[in-house]
This record gives sequence, C-alpha cells and structure tokens, in this order.
Amino acid sequence: MGEMVKPQGILLVVSGPSGAGKGTICSMLREQLPDLGYSVSVTTRQPRVGEVDGVNYFFKTVDQVKEMIARDEFLEYAEVYGNYYGTPRQYVMDLLASGKDVLLEIDIQGALQVKEHFPEGVFVFIVPPSLDELYDRIYKRGTDSAEVIERRMASAASELSFAAKYDYIIVNDVAEKAAQRVLTLMEAERYRVARTYFIVDEICKKKQEIKE
Ligand code: 5GP
Repeated sequence: MGEMVKPQGILLVVSGPSGAGKGTICSMLREQLPDLGYSVSVTTRQPRVGEVDGVNYFFKTVDQVKEMIARDEFLEYAEVYGNYYGTPRQYVMDLLASGKDVLLEIDIQGALQVKEHFPEGVFVFIVPPSLDELYDRIYKRGTDSAEVIERRMASAASELSFAAKYDYIIVNDVAEKAAQRVLTLMEAERYRVARTYFIVDEICKKKQEIKE
C-alpha cells in the first residue's frame, strides 16, 4: 500500500481588538488541544509581572529585533502601541510541515500580513459583545494606565472595521463558549477539500492496485 501523504498542519490565526479576550480564548484552546503548536512571539515591550522570557514572549531589544527583520526572520511583524511584535518564521513553518496545527495570537496588522503570504491559514476575528464591555474588561484587567486604555479604546473602534478581511468572526460573550466555537470551526476546517483530497487519491490508488 502506498504511503499516506501527511497533510500540512492548519495555521490558526486569532486576532481582534485588545481586550476582546483573545488571550483567554487562546489559553483555553491550548488546554483543549494539547497538540496545538504555539508560536511564542518576539517583543520589545517590557515584561509584565509574572511574564517569563521564552514562555509568554521572547523579550528583545529594538536593535535585536531590527537585526531579525534585516535577516528576514519574521513571518510577520508589526509595531503595536510603540513596541515591536513579531512571529519567528522558521519555527512555525517547521511545525506546519510536520503536520501540526499552529496557533498565532497576533494583532490585526500582523494577521493581514500573514494572510497575504499564507491565505490557506484560518483567520479568526474575536469581537467583544459591545465597546462598553470592552472598556470594562481592559479597565478591570488593571495592567494599563489610563492613557494606554484610552489609546486601546480608540484603536479598538477602528480595528473592528477589519473584521471583514477574516474568515470567521467569533463574539466573545462568555470565553468558554467562544473557545468552543473556535474548536468547532477548526473541526470543520479539517474536512476541507484542500486538506483532504489526498484521501480520495489514496482510495483511487487502492482501487487501481486491486485491478492489477
Ligand atoms: P500585549 O502587549 O498585550 O501582550 O500584546 C499587544 C498586542 O500585540 C496584542 O494584540 C497581541 O495579540 C499582539 N501581538 C502579540 N504577539 C504578536 C506578534 O508576534 N505579532 C503581531 N503582529 N502582534 C502580536
């Protein structure tokens, strides 16, 4: 019998306005899908309390990030609220090639860059139920100054208009429910013809072998 061609993993890109809850949803996805590859991003921002280098982010200097950009080491990168954030390319590509699904939790500019080069990814946009709810969540998180909250709120309103560029919109009313919706759509994505046609090939090959 011929060897099954192992399909590439699915690149799942999750973004949305900050405070929409994509961090919580992504943590839940990773708990439910222990095989899901996760790309740790590079950033130039300062670690928050409790954040660990190499776990939450690879914390780098601006010079280090500029060198990585010059060496074309990022799948995408963007400047978000005055800091650089980027996804190291090699790690993600290796995981996908090995058949693993990979989750990227990145901002909208980054997601749109990935979509340009990698349209076969699955692009999910997380939205809050309302802007009032978004404000409450960012405020309660307590990690940002009043000025930063104001900036995040101002950009959230304009960021929502990018939803149309995505494949799926998920309303984060209750995080568990929103995460479940993402799991459901990933399940459906696995059956897409582009990802499963090799099965039909295999069936036809077997039919040929019986005939011979
Ligand atoms: P935070 O500073 O709150 O951890 O992240 C700020 C924003 O940067 C969030 O929207 C987060 O999803 C985004 N972000 C994190 N890593 C990356 C990355 O590698 N690339 C891009 N483009 N955005 C990222």
